[in-house]
Amino acid sequence: MTFLSAASDPEDGPLARERERVMGALSILAVVFLVPFAIHDFLRGRGALGVAIVCVVVTFAADGYAVRKRRKPPVPYALLLVPITAAITLSLATQGVIGAFWCYPVVLFFFFVLPQRPAIVCSGALLVTATAIVYHYLTMRITVRFAISLLLTIVMVNIIQGIIHGLQRRLLEQAITDPLTGAFNRRHMSARLREALASGRPPSTPSALLMIDVDHFKKINDEHGHDAGDAVLKGLVSVVRSRARQTDLLFRMGGEEFVLLLPDTTEAQAMTLADDIRQAIAASPLLEGHTVTVSIGVGPADPRDSVDSWLKGTDAAMYMAKESGRNRVARRIPAAV
Ligand code: GH3
Ligand code: MG
Ligand code: MG
Repeated sequence: MTFLSAASDPEDGPLARERERVMGALSILAVVFLVPFAIHDFLRGRGALGVAIVCVVVTFAADGYAVRKRRKPPVPYALLLVPITAAITLSLATQGVIGAFWCYPVVLFFFFVLPQRPAIVCSGALLVTATAIVYHYLTMRITVRFAISLLLTIVMVNIIQGIIHGLQRRLLEQAITDPLTGAFNRRHMSARLREALASGRPPSTPSALLMIDVDHFKKINDEHGHDAGDAVLKGLVSVVRSRARQTDLLFRMGGEEFVLLLPDTTEAQAMTLADDIRQAIAASPLLEGHTVTVSIGVGPADPRDSVDSWLKGTDAAMYMAKESGRNRVARRIPAAV
């Protein structure tokens, strides 16, 4: 079983949501911290360096202001590399190794405001360029130490980003997963069903739902205890998963009721799978001394369906299966035109 969610695009990196906030804060910091340096450089007669720092401040301020006003930043973030590299070069040329210190916060800046891959490219470009400049103006001894320490900084920021990414994925998975059975929870279901309805519109093959409800589950709990009931639910989920395809998504609706979404599936295929699942569950030793059975409603999507009507129609089919004696499969009655 797989899941996809727009909120977890790995390409965009784990800090994507923080980008606006960081850029807004950085623009203020750039003005507060860098303007005094620019004034100092002008007063000391280092006009070129002063101008380069002013360029960095102006580009930061322009992007930061636009982001705060929810507009597109006028200077692409990666292009900030140009005034930053110019300022670092001039600083190195006029002040020696002090100029190299600025590379460290710049690497952090890249990882906070750019997606991960462009951040790696920009940091790599900065590492190569700055090392060449340091070598040009300073000694080999300093160059080696500078390059290694900057490389280590880049590696460590990447490791930290990897950890944040892992935590973010785990949180996201927890938010959409039922802790007992590992099936997706109801909260995740509506969005996936809406997508399935949209992608199954003609001429594509529509999707189908199976509504699976354990028969006399209350009795299982009453006679064998709640823990045994829980174990039955877990076992049932593994049986359903072993029969379903990779693309089918299983949700726990609540209690002992599950929904299996079958994308791109005809009614006949859904009926066959439903009966296969029903038989597999009845044949599985889910509870010692007790045959566990399920009733399944099969609901092919109708082009006029909403998520609600699709679920209701399939639920009605499941109740028909119950009424006809349980341990049965029943198909949804198509809505009258
Ligand atoms: P039917 O065949 O008509 O579906 O009867 P049923 O007994 O399965 O249905 P009913 O809705 O009367 O009972 C469902 C029971 O499921 C009641 C509730 O205590 C139990 N239940 C709900 N959630 C859980 C759970 O997480 N674990 C366990 N062990 N039991 C649960
Ligand atoms: Mg039941
Ligand atoms: Mg029920």
